[in-house]
Amino acid sequence: MKSTELRERLARIRQAAEARMDRFVERLRRFVGFETPTERTDRVRDFIRVLRDEIQVMGLQTQELEAPPSAPVLLSWYPPAPEVPAEFDVLFIGHVDTVWPEGEIQRRPFRVEGTRVTGPGVYDMKGGLALLMFTFEVLRDLGEVPAHRHIGWLWTTDEEAGSPGARPRIQEWARRARYVLSLEPAAPGGAVKVERYGVAVLEVTFRGRSGHPGLRSGGVNAIEQALGWHGMLRAWTVAHEGLWVTLAKIRGGQRTNQIPDTCRMIYDVRYADPSHLEALRTWLTAFQALPLDPERPETRRLTWTLETHMPPLPAQASRAAFERARSIAALLDWNLEGVRVGGGGDSAYAAEVGARVLDGLGVDGDGAHTPNEWADLSTVPRRVAFLAGLWWDL
Ligand SMILES: [Zn+2]
Repeated sequence: MKSTELRERLARIRQAAEARMDRFVERLRRFVGFETPTERTDRVRDFIRVLRDEIQVMGLQTQELEAPPSAPVLLSWYPPAPEVPAEFDVLFIGHVDTVWPEGEIQRRPFRVEGTRVTGPGVYDMKGGLALLMFTFEVLRDLGEVPAHRHIGWLWTTDEEAGSPGARPRIQEWARRARYVLSLEPAAPGGAVKVERYGVAVLEVTFRGRSGHPGLRSGGVNAIEQALGWHGMLRAWTVAHEGLWVTLAKIRGGQRTNQIPDTCRMIYDVRYADPSHLEALRTWLTAFQALPLDPERPETRRLTWTLETHMPPLPAQASRAAFERARSIAALLDWNLEGVRVGGGGDSAYAAEVGARVLDGLGVDGDGAHTPNEWADLSTVPRRVAFLAGLWWDL
């Protein structure tokens, strides 16, 4: 599509969205009111059915796909051929579950104050679901949904638990999509997320030897060993760009008159790419060979495990889509920025199988996973036009 023509069409979409904002707000109110904590698979499943019915009425074809151990995911596609297309031009992904327990809606009911909306999951990411559905409706009202573009939507149910059930489904469909776009909330300030750190958990246990604190010989204090070691780990990681460690839990010791013989520490680890995690492994292995107490070489009692929870989203996976998205945003007089974030996300699973992805296409706002969560209504019309541009032209 020529850029002058695209600019005019985007302006029309934006205006039409502006005129229909009450529809967006009403849908978002319903979605936020239907609570979907990840662990309540019955609630999440019911919500998927609500979405399915609504999406079918809108004119897309839908199919529920089993995703054990989690509730089924929902795949929708347009044009509504009876069979799922062999390939998608664009696959939009998002999750319906939230981190909020049931009953949170009584404490923080859905509320609109000016252009700010609040309520559990309004930003992460019921807002993103409502945004894409609204975009489709606006396009349809204007007769602008292209018949030649194969578009898929994949709504999952367990993202906040690391997507144990959805991961194979995401990867299966990501392999069959030219682009995978995630409707996770925009980064604060409106940027898209072009790079995500991976998440791993490091567990380290020191075993010393218990003894009587009143006797100078005999014991090896596991907590003191662990604290000294922690300082070294911190110094090493601070010098390593692309690796963040946070000591999240520590446990050791029984009583004051006993030298503690064990100390266990659990770290949250964020890493830019697998080579950083490899470097950490190498460092841990080298350290394991050293005695805890140089005076007593028999004190080699450090054990560790390093488990990956979510792969990183490397910057190169977003490059192609980001460039294109930037030029579409420019037609809306918007200087779209791309940022790196520390949190994991489903887009990383899509990138893992080689998909070209772009993340953070949902609503503006801030405060994900906190009671201060809010979404911004003022930028919704521009975001609708932006999504329409990606739908037509990516
Ligand atoms: Zn999310």
